[in-house]
Parts: sequence; structure tokens; C-alpha cells
Amino acid sequence: MKKALSKKNLWDKTQFLVKATVGRGLGVLPPEWLLGSRFRANCRFVRETQSWPAEQARQYQLNKLREILKLAYEKTEFYSNLFNKAGFSHDDFRNLQNLNKLPVIDKQAVIENLEYMCTRPVTSRDVDFGSTGGTSGTPLHFYMDAGRSATEYAYLVTSWERVGYKLGMPMAVLRGRVVNTNRNGLRHEYDPILRHHYYSNFHMSDDNMARYLGHIATIGPCFLHVYPSSVAALAGYILRKGMQAPKNIRGIIAESEIVYPKQRRMVENVFGCRCFSCYGHSEKLVLAAECEQSENYHIWPTYGYFELLDEKGNPVTEPGQRGEIVGTGFINTVMPFIRYRTGDWATYVSDHCRACGREHIIIRDIQGHRTQEMLIAADGSEISWTALNMHDDTFSRVRQFQFMQERPGQAVLRVVPAEGFSEKEIGRIHKNLGQKLEEQLTFTVELVDSIALSARGKAIYVDQRISQDRLSHTGFIKK
Ligand SMILES: [Zn+2]
Repeated sequence: MKKALSKKNLWDKTQFLVKATVGRGLGVLPPEWLLGSRFRANCRFVRETQSWPAEQARQYQLNKLREILKLAYEKTEFYSNLFNKAGFSHDDFRNLQNLNKLPVIDKQAVIENLEYMCTRPVTSRDVDFGSTGGTSGTPLHFYMDAGRSATEYAYLVTSWERVGYKLGMPMAVLRGRVVNTNRNGLRHEYDPILRHHYYSNFHMSDDNMARYLGHIATIGPCFLHVYPSSVAALAGYILRKGMQAPKNIRGIIAESEIVYPKQRRMVENVFGCRCFSCYGHSEKLVLAAECEQSENYHIWPTYGYFELLDEKGNPVTEPGQRGEIVGTGFINTVMPFIRYRTGDWATYVSDHCRACGREHIIIRDIQGHRTQEMLIAADGSEISWTALNMHDDTFSRVRQFQFMQERPGQAVLRVVPAEGFSEKEIGRIHKNLGQKLEEQLTFTVELVDSIALSARGKAIYVDQRISQDRLSHTGFIKK
């Protein structure tokens, strides 16, 4: 597979030192100018769409879908076959409900048809190569527009503005970036254009966390941009040491992993500010953000077309009902994703938010099967890690932990002990977790020096080795 090479790829490949030198001179200009006119225009548009009435958004979606359906049909073999087989014509597409005449597609379809899904040559300079990390199984490869970042970043910045972020504010970033030590021995790099301070969340020893926090305290009023697990580790460290969090942190943006409610409360208490989250995909399908007043996810109607489908493929419109998130992205015109099953499930809340007044669909409790946060009980039923996650003192002297499971009903709990860990802690873990697990699952505790993060630096709470295929064939996975 030929890897696309766009300007953005080249920028990423530039030696960091060169980039820092070039960037230093540019750092005096406001970032919105450095990010380009397309970014500025997108920001204006995205800000405005927040107050659109639902009908205006629907009209926009209809037009966008028509464009993407036409492009997919005319330029790709995969979609022209799919449309023909379904008897679907994009010319007849006149209302949003008609989209369900097309079948949904999944990751396997993309893996098998990658080369038949692209609308232009992938070697063009305006095409980028992308992939999803995937904590296990086959990674998904795809192609997308090199210019998409200017669009996507406008949505993210506009979302973050809801909790006080302003472009140009320093950001302390702990999100899976490989960061080498600088001449002071600190794992820190600085991007003067975006004013981002990067720290390594692959290296979260107590010593390193103390140094990260010390450095963050010197960068002025700032936001943290983190994985929920990396900020939980920082908060846990502050609690264990009885320290105060740096006073200059104005808000925390925690994304790309499941946000556990109790973990969020703990982080907000320790840092004394709002912990805010967005939900999106590398494949650019749909994007959703919390709002000023609520922790429900508001779907941006102009980013992609969102559907929530039950097990039978019917739309979920009842508050409280769960469904799978199915997305049709508007941003990727290189490789359209049409009715793509994300494997993520969420609860439908409403078609608008009463708290902020935005007429966006809102959902909550997003959880992904693809994130593998499930343990399998002896009888084959699933135990959600969310339900099991302990936020009392069970893990107070534990730095990191992870379940590893090879057989239904049995698991190993790997534990990286923190200072003051003793045999007593093992007893406490058995007692507290055992109460929740009852007879469904037995486990042994194994003390280890470290637990690997995913390739992108995300925490894996369940190292699930029972194959998903085997589980679905035996009826173990009930979607
Ligand atoms: Zn709201």
C-alpha cells in the first residue's frame, strides 16, 4: 500500500528542532492567522451553525449527503456496486429517512475494499493516509483529504470554547505523543505555533509526574489536553502525595477514551476546574461535544450525518434507549464512509439540549466494543468494566492496573504497586472487587513493574484475549 505524502505529512516528518526554530519566529503571530484562511472561515461557519434551528441543519445535511452520495457513486466501484445492488439512486434522494435504503457497512468491508472506495488517486499531494489505533485486532487503514485538519480543528476549537478555551492559550498535552528528554532531562517538547507543551504519558513515574506538574505550573493560564487515563494518573499522584494541583489550569479537555463519571469527578475535584470531552473518530464520521452546562454529547450536525441504530437496524429515538453509532462523514471526500458502523454504542437523550438551547441530537454513555472494555463471565455474559471500575480506596496504593483474560469466568488482575503497597492491599482488592463480581468471575492478583499502553498511549483496562469471533459465534457477545 502506497503511503500518501501531503504537506501535513511533511510537516510532521520535519525534525522537531527545525520546526521549533522556524516556529519561534512565527510564534508572535496569532495562531488563527498561522492556521490559515480556510481555518478562519471554518471557525466562523462552525460558530454560526450552533444556533441554527433543526430544520436548517436538516436541509444542510440533505445537501451534503446528496453531494457525498453522488461522488461515491460516480467515482468509486465499491459504492456504485452497493447502490445498484440496493436499487438506490442518489438522484432520488430527497429526504434523510431514505438513507436507510442503503445497507450499513463495517470495518471488514473497508478492509476488503480499500482500493475500490477512493474517489481519486491516493498518490495525489492532497491525500493523506490514516489509520485507527485499535487496541487489538486488525488496524483500519484509510485515505482522507490533506486539508481536513483545518476543518476538524475548527470544530474542536469551537467545542472547547464552550468551557473557556481560547485559541492561543497554552495547552499542556499528554496524549500518546512520543516525547524525548530535553537537555534538562524533562520529557517535554514545545510547539510555538499552537503553543502546545507536549509531555510523555508513556513515562508516568512519580518522578516524571512531579516534573510535569512543576513545569505546567510555569506556563501561565492554560488548558490540559489529555486522555482520561493520563489525567487520572496525574490526579491520583496529587492525591497520594497530598499536594496541591497547579493553580494555572483553567480547564481539562479529556478525550479519545471512555470518560468514567467517577474518574471525572475525582479529576475535577483535584484540579478544581471543569473536565470536558468531545467524541469523534480518526475516520471523520461524526463529532460530538459536551456543552457549557451539560455532560451529554451534542452531535455537530454539519460535521457528519449521525444515526443511532438498534440491534435490528432501526433508528433509536426513545430517550434512554441504546443503539450503535452509525456515521456518514461530510469531511472526507477522498474515501467516503457512508453508513459506517462505528462499533460504539450510546444512549439516546433528546433531539435538543434544554440546558443550552442548541437544537442538536444529544447522547450519553458512549461505550465501544472495539475498546474491549468487557470481561466475560463463566456463563458467557459480559461484565462491563464501567460497572466494575472502583473509585473508592480499592486502588489507592496502586499506580496502574489491568485485567488480562484468556478464559470466561477467570482473569488475572495485573497491578503496578505505588508507595506503601502491602499484602493488605491485595486482600482489600479481593474483598472489594469480589463483592461486585460475586460468582461470575474469579481472579488472581499479579504484581508487575509496568503495564504497556496501546501504541497510541491509551490505557487498556482489559487485555481481552478471548477472540471476539469466538465470542460472537458462541453467542457470547450480545449486541
Ligand atoms: Zn447543551
